[in-house]
Amino acid sequence: MPLENIKAMLERASNSGYAVGAFNILDYNSTKAVIRAAEDLSAPVIIQTSAKTVIFWGCPAIISWVKELAGTSKVPIALHLDHCKDLQLIADCINAGWSSVMIDASSKPFEENLAASKRVVEMARPKDVTVEAELGAIVGVEDDIHVKEQDAHLADLEQAIKFCAEVRPDCFAPAIGTAHGVYKGVPKIAYDLLEEVAGKTAIPIALHGGTGLADEVFKRCISLGCAKVNISTQLKYAFIDGFVAYHNAHDTEYNPLKVIDAQFNELKMGIVENINLFGSAGKA
Ligand SMILES: [Zn+2]
Repeated sequence: MPLENIKAMLERASNSGYAVGAFNILDYNSTKAVIRAAEDLSAPVIIQTSAKTVIFWGCPAIISWVKELAGTSKVPIALHLDHCKDLQLIADCINAGWSSVMIDASSKPFEENLAASKRVVEMARPKDVTVEAELGAIVGVEDDIHVKEQDAHLADLEQAIKFCAEVRPDCFAPAIGTAHGVYKGVPKIAYDLLEEVAGKTAIPIALHGGTGLADEVFKRCISLGCAKVNISTQLKYAFIDGFVAYHNAHDTEYNPLKVIDAQFNELKMGIVENINLFGSAGKA
């Protein structure tokens, strides 16, 4: 199946009260794990790439893995660029075949964020590529974007309404109290803000910093309007732990394909759990 953008995918999710998992891949093996998990569960899925991963491998390699794996697949699959502040890289991904991109100009003053986000919508829409935009500052480390706790701030409701009315993104990422990376305590989620933003903008919301949230937090956020849930840190752990655990248990074997297979299974297991939790199983 050709790649889909996230518009119809997220609208279906919003209307039916579930969320589509957006999983940050690292290489061919992790891309395969995401797609096979979605196929096993008959779920729509978003393959997500950090800007760093795109720069590491280059667009042609990533596009070739995704197209090869998605081409024979019967589930809806989107390829989405995660947090990117570089307009040239966004243009490169759009031209290479990504079906969706995120502009993250959230560290800039409001008017600059607005202008950059609008610019990306103008670049993307004629090519049928969807756009996610962010407002507020999500704490933690994502890629090379570091936001310290004292600099994190929630999205402002009035600004969120103005931003969405002017930018009209296909998916909106307001900072609502979740964090990138590993949670140190119990996160304080601004459920009221989430509900108001989702209700007043009528745009599907992306939940960032999904790794480590409790099941009931996911469920509540999804019920209030989150239609896309980002999972990145969990895959980083499974990628390394799956590999290392196998090698530690078979430390004289030196059979790389078995190690890669163990890594695949570890990644896929976590992705399957998430898809079930988000309610998107059976929705392909
Ligand atoms: Zn994020």
